[in-house]
Amino acid sequence: RAFVRMEQVGHCYDPAAGNMAVQQIDLEIHRHEFVAVVGPSGCGKSTLLRMVAGLLIPSAGKVSVFDRQVTEPRDDVGIVFQKPTLLPWLTVRDNVLFPLKHKYGLVTAADKVRAEELLAMAGLAQFSARMPDELSGGMQQRVGIVRALLLNPDILLMDEPFSALDAMTREQIGFDLLDIWTGHPKTVLFITHSISEAVLLADRVLVMSQRPGTVLDLIEIDIPRP
Ligand code: ADP
Ligand code: ADP
Repeated sequence: RAFVRMEQVGHCYDPAAGNMAVQQIDLEIHRHEFVAVVGPSGCGKSTLLRMVAGLLIPSAGKVSVFDRQVTEPRDDVGIVFQKPTLLPWLTVRDNVLFPLKHKYGLVTAADKVRAEELLAMAGLAQFSARMPDELSGGMQQRVGIVRALLLNPDILLMDEPFSALDAMTREQIGFDLLDIWTGHPKTVLFITHSISEAVLLADRVLVMSQRPGTVLDLIEIDIPRP
């Protein structure tokens, strides 16, 4: 059964101009599936992600998560954007615990254990008591991902989370994250313009291409896992 379903979804930011940003998207994401979407800048990847998050309501078609049509932002969705916004006055540990504290009013001992566990999986065990500005950009991005995972969202949406990083750092983060996914399967929609990142991390890669007339193609590639 599909966890996320898009049926004939299209969006037009500017109805007066009439051009569609994305058009006729049919997409299904299953539980615990890691789906990457690749494609050139401007082809509509962020638009697609925002519609799954409920941050944008499509002008055509239907988006549903768990068989319920998405009509507003959902709080069971975790989002990681290109740059993490860590609070500079809190340690790494307190940064990742902050949304939990905000949501539930308290942080349990079990939350703290899980925070340290996820930080360790992200290769940050030695840094949990450090301040964000003592970490590299790649490390900060990993902190942002751990923070999103700690809220245990039903689905994790990532929009170009590594595009600000150099290739070596991206690859290292990719391997660290693979460890996390292996231990804790998660439903993930991952937007990237890097095919190698997509192939490294995803179970399935969707390729969006932009043709004249902004008609959109989704080509599916299944990645076999050992
Ligand atoms: P990305 O490839 O990550 O979407 P962009 O530089 O294309 O990065 O877009 C950055 C932000 O600007 C996005 O939040 C997007 O919604 C917004 N944006 C992109 N194109 C336009 C546009 N033509 N008019 C208004 N806002 C736009
Ligand atoms: P991508 O993430 O693949 O770079 P986007 O989803 O950001 O693509 O953009 C898809 C198309 O929609 C582009 O033509 C972009 O200029 C346009 N667009 C994106 N955001 C906005 C916006 N807020 N207002 C108007 N046009 C936008």
